[in-house]
Amino acid sequence: MTCCHNYFATTEGGEEAFSVDVSAITYGAGCLAEAGEQAKALGVRRIALFTDKRLAATEHVAKVKASLTAAGIDYALYDEVKVEPTDVSFQAATRFAAEAKVDGFISVGGGSVMDTAKAASLYTTYPADFLAYVNAPVGEGRPVPGPLKPHIACPTTAGTGSECTGVTVFDLLSMKAKTGIASRMLRPSLALIDPLTTHTLPKNVIACSAFDVLSHALESYTAKPYTRRPRSNTPAERPMSQGANPWSDLGCREALRIAGEYMVRAVNDPADHEAREQLMWASTLAGIAFGNSGVHVPHGMAYAVAGLVKDYQPEGYPDDEPIIPHGMSVIVNAPSVFRNTACACPERHLDGAKCLGADLRGAREDDAGEVLGARIVELMKASGIPNGVGGVGYGEGDIGALIEGTLPQQRLLKNAPMEVGAEQLQSMFEGALSYW
Ligand SMILES: [Zn+2]
Repeated sequence: MTCCHNYFATTEGGEEAFSVDVSAITYGAGCLAEAGEQAKALGVRRIALFTDKRLAATEHVAKVKASLTAAGIDYALYDEVKVEPTDVSFQAATRFAAEAKVDGFISVGGGSVMDTAKAASLYTTYPADFLAYVNAPVGEGRPVPGPLKPHIACPTTAGTGSECTGVTVFDLLSMKAKTGIASRMLRPSLALIDPLTTHTLPKNVIACSAFDVLSHALESYTAKPYTRRPRSNTPAERPMSQGANPWSDLGCREALRIAGEYMVRAVNDPADHEAREQLMWASTLAGIAFGNSGVHVPHGMAYAVAGLVKDYQPEGYPDDEPIIPHGMSVIVNAPSVFRNTACACPERHLDGAKCLGADLRGAREDDAGEVLGARIVELMKASGIPNGVGGVGYGEGDIGALIEGTLPQQRLLKNAPMEVGAEQLQSMFEGALSYW
């Protein structure tokens, strides 16, 4: 793999350094019982406990409450977090946190819960018009002025990696678009990761989370190298989505190896605790990786695929409204995207396929996109994922709207290893309509 050594070759005017920002992490079976002592160590006295309705009744939240009480920490429970949050649900959570007069946050749940806590902490600490901090061009993209209150993030799905990133994602209802806020300041103070939480997840939730992990790792690994981004004038200007770098590569490759080995087992056998716990570790590794490199096109397209949902309702998710879960909205695009991007760095696409357990015998660099695409499709079929963008309700006639919904995600599209505009997205969406 000599080409990989050249991936970070310096370029004229290009970046010469990369930064590593990592959350503090505590990882291990049963560690949710440390929540109270950890909050105390962060100087918190009254904490907002964020979760959702389904989780509020579980032993995980009970364990956290007991631990907070034992450590003498007062908590205010907010269990109204919406799965796939919106600007409206973020603002409701912000009002709750402001009225509860808390000096810290603990979030117990999936990406939606952790992201809502990040937003509530931001808007209660530095109040502003809602669109002020939202990524441009949808919002103003104003920098977050300074540190937020302490936030302990406790993930209960092995997927989003949100506990390790400074990104929060939501639906902007007025524009029917998914967008987000990205700032190092949003990164939680501590990720408290207890793999026991994965034991009780429904099959489809495990599948969607696992494919989110897989795509975080592959996108991060095949992102444009940091050396091809224009050099930042100051360290503060260096974006979190700085592109692929040697640090991110470490987490990506190991996360892919684990996902390739364990995801099908974890999805299809609820009693396979080993496989589910392994996925939690893969999720952590991928989160650390993409939090320092950024993801690219499959996530960019997912914003449109999830945002424009028609009437799709998956098993295992709330059934009050149509929803395409995040991991699903990402992976239905992925095989087609990687078939298109492979020409930009074939060696990384081949190596990604190899980490995922693909048989590379006889494969040449020209086959890289096909080999990787086929391995992802094989895993999708074995995990009950819908057959591409067509499988979640879209047809040929929707491609124009899907492209329109993807183009504003410039932060992600620019992180791809090649130029991606409307023309490339046309071919990527066409190729993603169905895979088998
Ligand atoms: Zn994701």
